[in-house]
Amino acid sequence: MNNKIHNCIIIGSGPAGYSASIYAARYGLDPIIILGDLPGGQLTNTNYVDNYLGFPHGIDGNQFMDNCRKQAERFNVEILNESVYEVDLCNYIGGIHKIFFGKKKNNLLMSKGVIIATGSTPKCLGIKKERQLLGAGISFCATCDGFFHKGKDIAIVGGGDTALEDAHYLSRICKKVYLLVRKNYFRASKILQNNIIDNDNINVLFQSTISEIIGDNVLKAIKIFNHNTKKYQLKLISGLFIAIGHHPNTNIFKNKLNLNDKGFIIVKNGTTNTNIPGVFAAGDVQDPNYKQAITSAGSGCMAALDLEKYLYSL
Ligand SMILES: Cc1cc2nc3c(=O)[nH]c(=O)nc-3n(C[C@H](O)[C@H](O)[C@H](O)COP(=O)(O)OP(=O)(O)OC[C@H]3O[C@@H](n4cnc5c(N)ncnc54)[C@H](O)[C@@H]3O)c2cc1C
Repeated sequence: MNNKIHNCIIIGSGPAGYSASIYAARYGLDPIIILGDLPGGQLTNTNYVDNYLGFPHGIDGNQFMDNCRKQAERFNVEILNESVYEVDLCNYIGGIHKIFFGKKKNNLLMSKGVIIATGSTPKCLGIKKERQLLGAGISFCATCDGFFHKGKDIAIVGGGDTALEDAHYLSRICKKVYLLVRKNYFRASKILQNNIIDNDNINVLFQSTISEIIGDNVLKAIKIFNHNTKKYQLKLISGLFIAIGHHPNTNIFKNKLNLNDKGFIIVKNGTTNTNIPGVFAAGDVQDPNYKQAITSAGSGCMAALDLEKYLYSL
């Protein structure tokens, strides 16, 4: 066991984690970043990031995250290709937090500061070809990919706030929007429902689920089953947006940190401070709303600055 007390351990290697690591390294905090099971995070699942500032022609998600890693390496960030399985967080100012990682019980890091950037995982429908056609017509993010379907027909799955907000946004750029809702009612807020009902461009299909995704290399169509009429219908679409929510990756933090009812880490308004001194959260793991690469990277920067301020105050 290594008895060294570190300043900054970063858990997670998406845009939030790498951004935090670069700022922390440049502040002289000698950060260690633990990559987790998905090194580079969610963006490694997409071959085209078109909305990140500074890339006039867009960039492949893997290439982007590889660049982030190289930038972190340039500042001598220590990179551990491991996953954290348990944390022991100390609930007083100046306390030492324990991070257990890897498969062996004696893999322990101790640190005065911890930045949690474990992200979130979009919920899937669990239908054949859903994964295969991700980035080839299927998307979990209307803000990221909606623009690629300008003037075309698309479908959205979901009946909550996100799905209805996405439908509203996409109805302004797409030709026709089919909104598939499993139940015979929406879960979304009343005001969003009114926006949808008044919108001629959105065709709501209640009690409807996708029975088949059609297309080999690119999405071509979906087959929809109506659970009320028991009938199938085929819709030719260029895009399918799955908007049924995200799981924040916070299992290891349950009962250790304050989480909201959906499991996202609660941070103090306008900061990345959690309820535990010296523990900060950045990126999707603390963000039920925006869930973008650029907002994640921004809050990664904030977490490093918040941590530096905390350490300086000790
Ligand atoms: C298919 C797809 C396409 C997208 N396209 C875009 C786009 O074009 N533009 C855009 O702005 N956004 C896009 N997004 C959203 C964007 O990817 C996320 O908002 C962003 O990646 C969140 O960054 P993050 O650093 O918070 O977490 P994530 O990227 O989710 O990374 C989380 C990290 O935490 C690690 N981790 C988790 N648990 C542990 C553990 N126990 N121990 C150690 N490490 C752990 C994981 O290995 C991973 O490295 C897309 C998302 C998806 C799924």
